[in-house]
Amino acid sequence: MTYEELKAQEELYVMQTYGRFPIALDHGKGSVLWDITGKRYVDLTSGIGVSCLGYDHPVLTQAITEQVQQLMHVSNLFMTAPMVQTAKTLVTATQMGKVFFANSGAESNEGAIKLARKYSFDKYGAGRHKIITLCNSFHGRTITTLKATGQTRFHNHFFPFTEGFDYAIAGDLDDLKSKVDDRTCAIMMELIQGEGGVLPQNPAFVKVVESLCREKDLLLIIDEVQTGIGRTGSLFCFQQYDIQPDIVTMAKGLGGGVPIGAVMASKSCCDVLTAGTHATTFGGSPMVCAAANAVLSIINNTAFLSEVREKGAYLKEKILAFDSPLIEGVRGAGLMLGIIVPAGQHSALASKLIEQGVLVLTAGQNAIRLLPPLTITYEELDEALAIMKPVFCS
Ligand SMILES: *Cc1c(COP(=O)(O)O)cnc(C)c1O
Repeated sequence: MTYEELKAQEELYVMQTYGRFPIALDHGKGSVLWDITGKRYVDLTSGIGVSCLGYDHPVLTQAITEQVQQLMHVSNLFMTAPMVQTAKTLVTATQMGKVFFANSGAESNEGAIKLARKYSFDKYGAGRHKIITLCNSFHGRTITTLKATGQTRFHNHFFPFTEGFDYAIAGDLDDLKSKVDDRTCAIMMELIQGEGGVLPQNPAFVKVVESLCREKDLLLIIDEVQTGIGRTGSLFCFQQYDIQPDIVTMAKGLGGGVPIGAVMASKSCCDVLTAGTHATTFGGSPMVCAAANAVLSIINNTAFLSEVREKGAYLKEKILAFDSPLIEGVRGAGLMLGIIVPAGQHSALASKLIEQGVLVLTAGQNAIRLLPPLTITYEELDEALAIMKPVFCS
């Protein structure tokens, strides 16, 4: 099928919910993708932070293949070894308590919201259900997680939304404190806002939020759907902020490409969701957990994580060295970087980069977002940089 034929059928049969680029991808190797016409792209997106081991990692491919041949799915009414292994690895690496498996980021955040509300309900009775999130955040696309998202443009069309969310300005402790009242049960945040523009939180602010949560018995929910699984150079970003959250959610990179999400709760609240109060048909299947175990076996490693930090620093330094008038800065951590460009120019620049053969994302109003596979090589980074330079410097 030609690109034009595929495009015509896509328009006919697939809901047009995405502003897709005019490219149909076909196969990949390392951090390089090819489209159906044979054109080559260096990938600095990993899907959207998903394919953290690139596109043909032998450990991941073998783990999935072997598990599919052995047992792909059983219901959550039975135990399987891969699921227990994934939970054990996550808990051991973080000093958290227990894990619930979901299938996506939004669903993991839904689970976290349910857990926080039930924690409060069990302890204080009804009415203490409010959750404070931050302005400019992104927490998902379900009715509830859209409302948890602190951007009013998402609070449209689908009324009525779930009640009980309020939004505080990131980094503004007074604003946050003014939103917390005796009906509040949790504070939820990303430590580096991803969709919002690759915006890191101030560490001092995060520490004070943690103490405020302890003081008022609010659960601190850290949304690590994008920042987790090695993306920022530590297994979870919260480990760089010297905090111990009550709930951590994750998804994107966890399965290296298969759909898996998870809610991880600390020892103080990991028994709140009891039999019958939360469930999922697909969550934590042996297939997706075999993938997650393969991913974690590679990423949950000090040397691998320090390489992520080194490659991130290298990429940042080389981009700043373009010395382009279009580049106002590079922010983020590890291999989650935002190139800051003049407001409104990020989309056009991203399209140009993609056309030239480097896949990038945008975020917020002024960021070109880079989330390359964590396994990207220096050769692949150099190839991407060589393509990027003339786009920023001509
Ligand atoms: C992508 C993302 C989500 C939503 O994840 P889905 O898998 O698309 O539901 C939630 N929170 C953050 C921080 C994200 O980056």
